[in-house]
Amino acid sequence: MLRQIIYTSKVNPKNEKACLSEISQASAHNNSLRNITGILFFDGKHFFQILEGFSQDVEKTFDRIKNDIRHYEVTIIFDAAIRSRDFPDWNSSMVMTEVSEWEYVKTFCNSAELKSRKVTSIINSFISGRWNSEKRFTKLSRPVTNHSKVVNLNERSYGNFSFAYQPIVDSVQGNVSSYEALLRDRDKVFPAKYIESLPAQQKYHFDLHSKEVAISKVAPYLESHQAVSINLLPGAFIDIDSAADFILNQMSINSLEPEQLIIEVTESEIIRDFQRFKAKADALRTKGILIAMDDFGAGYAGLSTLANFPPDKIKLDRNLVFNIQNDGVKQALVSAVVEFSTKLGIIVVAEGVEDKEELRCLANLGIQRFQGYLFAKPCYDCLPFVTWESFFESAV
Ligand code: C2E
Ligand code: MN
Ligand code: MN
Repeated sequence: MLRQIIYTSKVNPKNEKACLSEISQASAHNNSLRNITGILFFDGKHFFQILEGFSQDVEKTFDRIKNDIRHYEVTIIFDAAIRSRDFPDWNSSMVMTEVSEWEYVKTFCNSAELKSRKVTSIINSFISGRWNSEKRFTKLSRPVTNHSKVVNLNERSYGNFSFAYQPIVDSVQGNVSSYEALLRDRDKVFPAKYIESLPAQQKYHFDLHSKEVAISKVAPYLESHQAVSINLLPGAFIDIDSAADFILNQMSINSLEPEQLIIEVTESEIIRDFQRFKAKADALRTKGILIAMDDFGAGYAGLSTLANFPPDKIKLDRNLVFNIQNDGVKQALVSAVVEFSTKLGIIVVAEGVEDKEELRCLANLGIQRFQGYLFAKPCYDCLPFVTWESFFESAV
């Protein structure tokens, strides 16, 4: 199994520049022996390293690194199974960067060479100094894609059920980054009572299998940078052994990459059976599927769940978003989540954004992705029209 560890550390002040090339050469040598690939940055004070390879090799390498007295405060920011290497060709050649090489690294990080958005955003965060809690800002730019008309989807249903779609918009890219599929009955409402009435196994089966329709409806309209987000009860992939294969198969039938699927699970459900959840979720991630923590801040043990299971995406609950412009506590909380997520390469989405004041405040706190009535309401069997105007009107 392939594994990736990303950590930062501080250089021991006793180590002057002279040893840096020594560190670089020694690590390049050791890494090529164990077939470890990755990259190493140094900004004058901090090291930032990505190591990837077979699990045991990465572990051994990292053990050695941890005990190296030339640095301290070794802080892991990512440690998980991965689907493929981000730096397959960066075997022994590592980049040692000082301020003079900054521009080169920036160019490298913006290049197409880096496929993983997560790693790119972690590196960008290090390079731009956001690492050190420096000021962030969100630029509200003009949309590059014009999603200005309603797209009607095919009328396939799953029994009596179908889906409404709601876009998640990216204010910096100026486009729709994903569509969330929301289950609907014939009356176009979420069938909460029906789902509750089903015995557990039937409920999980229904939840999982209905996603065949959720994915296939939207698939023909997804651009390669866009994803579809589905909601699942964790039971749907914890209790059904074939769930991962089922989902991957649906993606492949619809000519989508696994990376174009996001599974949203709510925090309350994650903590119910945490160990099993983590194992199954990691298995899905290894295949490239992203996991989002839905309804974050809706009233559970938020931070400890995050520490035990950092997701790929956090969706801030409408509770945190509502009237945030007038609420210092909410602002401080959201600001902390943004800080945390920036460092860990987690994408943050603000859900349920209904008015421009909320948007302006969230954007100033560093949020870049939004979902809510302000942009588009969920559209039954269709992809809705997006109201972009709010971005420009609330730009500061
Ligand atoms: P959710 O995943 O948090 O979905 C967002 C909910 O917020 C949706 O309600 C959406 O209509 C609503 N919403 C979106 N923008 C706004 C806004 O600006 N203001 C307000 N007040 N609300 C907004 P919906 O569709 O009724 O879904 C309710 C919940 O049902 C979802 O919450 C999700 O947890 C669950 N759900 C939906 N589809 C599925 C599914 O296929 N499987 C499972 N297991 N759960 C689902
Ligand atoms: Mn959701
Ligand atoms: Mn939600």
